[in-house]
Amino acid sequence: MTSRLPHIVAMIVLHLAAVLACLHAPASAHDPDEGSLTRPACFASSTDDRTLAQMAGASALWNCRGGGWDASAPVSWIRFGISGRSDEAPPSLFFTRISRFASISLTAIDADGAKRTATFGEEDGTPVAAGPIFTLPLPEITAKTRALVVRIVGPHSAPMMTEARLTGSTTRTDWSVIQLLFLAMILGMLVMPLMFDVSFYIVLRERFVLLHAFMAFSMILYVLFAGGLLPVFANVSVPAMAVGGSLSWAAGSAAAAFFLTEFVEPGRLPARMDRALRLAGWWTLLVIGFASLQLSWTQSFDNALYFYGFVPVIAIYLAAIVVALMRGSVAARYVAAAWIPLFLAASERLLRGLGVYAAPSWFDQFLYTALALEVMIVALGVASRYAAIRLERDNARAEAKMLENLSERDPLTGLLNRRALDDRFPDLHAAGYETVALFDLDHFKTVNDTHGHEVGDQVLRVVGDVLRTDPEAVAVRMGGEEFLVLFAGDDVEIRAERMRQTIAVRVAREVEALKSILTASVGLVQGPRSKDGATDFAQLYRRADALLYEAKAGGRNLLASETLRHVRPPPPPVMPLRKSSAA
Ligand code: GH3
Ligand code: MG
Ligand code: MG
Repeated sequence: MTSRLPHIVAMIVLHLAAVLACLHAPASAHDPDEGSLTRPACFASSTDDRTLAQMAGASALWNCRGGGWDASAPVSWIRFGISGRSDEAPPSLFFTRISRFASISLTAIDADGAKRTATFGEEDGTPVAAGPIFTLPLPEITAKTRALVVRIVGPHSAPMMTEARLTGSTTRTDWSVIQLLFLAMILGMLVMPLMFDVSFYIVLRERFVLLHAFMAFSMILYVLFAGGLLPVFANVSVPAMAVGGSLSWAAGSAAAAFFLTEFVEPGRLPARMDRALRLAGWWTLLVIGFASLQLSWTQSFDNALYFYGFVPVIAIYLAAIVVALMRGSVAARYVAAAWIPLFLAASERLLRGLGVYAAPSWFDQFLYTALALEVMIVALGVASRYAAIRLERDNARAEAKMLENLSERDPLTGLLNRRALDDRFPDLHAAGYETVALFDLDHFKTVNDTHGHEVGDQVLRVVGDVLRTDPEAVAVRMGGEEFLVLFAGDDVEIRAERMRQTIAVRVAREVEALKSILTASVGLVQGPRSKDGATDFAQLYRRADALLYEAKAGGRNLLASETLRHVRPPPPPVMPLRKSSAA
């Protein structure tokens, strides 16, 4: 496993280099901030009742030197200067990063003080295929127009202000073909692990595979919503885009916490760390998920809650990885390699989301790249863990087979005896031998009584031969004419029933002295899947014995079965109310 790591690291570096090369070209050739885009000149924030006239008069409220935006204020203002130069097409569209809001008013102010205002709700915005961006039409801009003032009521994010622009051309707002291809490639990288996961799960049935699939699926949604690919295919409203993006990110991050607890090999995470991770998962799902709904009454704090909410979560994830690495977890190495670029890109996005600094929205592509890498690298880790678990199970099964050949045996039937089973049950159980079936011959005493002990012994030998036939089962003679069979694999009940019926057929055929049909009854219990293999054999056995008793009481020649969810202690013995008079 360790020897494969340099290869994986080399692969990751190559990947990063390739992706960065892709990224660099379109970014510099199509920087949306050059040319005919108008950037904001000044920002301000205010209470709800301030009018445009009041704001225009209060120059002290405006910040024109950088900064001045506030996503928690009831109203945010943006002022654009308009040059009015005749050699340039006048701006016709306002666009900015998608987030929820109550209303946006756009007012064109002419040199002579004339104003034209258009007001829009969030449903009026048109999402375009260029990151999570939407456009609104400007009121008429003439040669005399000197400023455009934007009044955003109830903005839910800082980039709504920092990434606001005016443009004269609709084509300037869309992604270039190369950028769309890039996003499509990222999507492809996310879909592949999803398919791996499905096939791994079919064989392995480990929960971490499902959680990884869920992470990949959330990230696919995130790229579709927040990456701005969705408007290419579908007509989605601004609020749906806003909530879809942040909610899918929260869901994927929450799944990452649960994934980590299950993915790291047993014993490599202290119980307290495990609990902290699960708590971080629930916190992310419920609290951050709630903030991502961007409800109107949470406007003053949801943006801060969404981003600051991730700070303790990231700290817990990092601590868990470090602890697991120190305890020698191989799985954690994959996660560490996968999460370093993600942490860097997510931190950049976090600072931008909080409005600590402003940067163009194509910076998001670092995050998408890191995301795709994350899911791919972790998929490699899942594959490696899959191989390790497979090997462990195969070894345990091989050992189980060997054990059958060598260890303590019952001299009459050649089957394992009870002591051998007691020693090895935990290992066998952990290796997938999870079903206990107790076989007991019906009215066997009469065979001895009628035909003698010799014939009885002969019958027991045939029964031993029958119980030995299943390659995925270990048969044990518990004593007398009672046998225990441990089953691994699928369809155990069908297999046990087939065995039970075969006993009658083969005894009739092979023990010629016997004149009547000899049947068997079975009590079968499918034990719960326990992570560490520590299942109390005594409890499973007691359940199987009780089921066998039911089969006997039900008329014999039967199989009674049950699937346990948890091993419960047996109920207290029922005390007779009155002493029987015969006693
Ligand atoms: P039930 O259907 O209720 O199970 O009836 P049963 O007669 O099979 O049950 P019981 O437990 O009363 O009888 C078990 C008999 O198995 C008693 C004993 O003589 C016989 N037995 C136990 N060990 C051996 C053995 O090694 N060889 C032979 N021939 N008989 C054995
Ligand atoms: Mg019996
Ligand atoms: Mg018996």
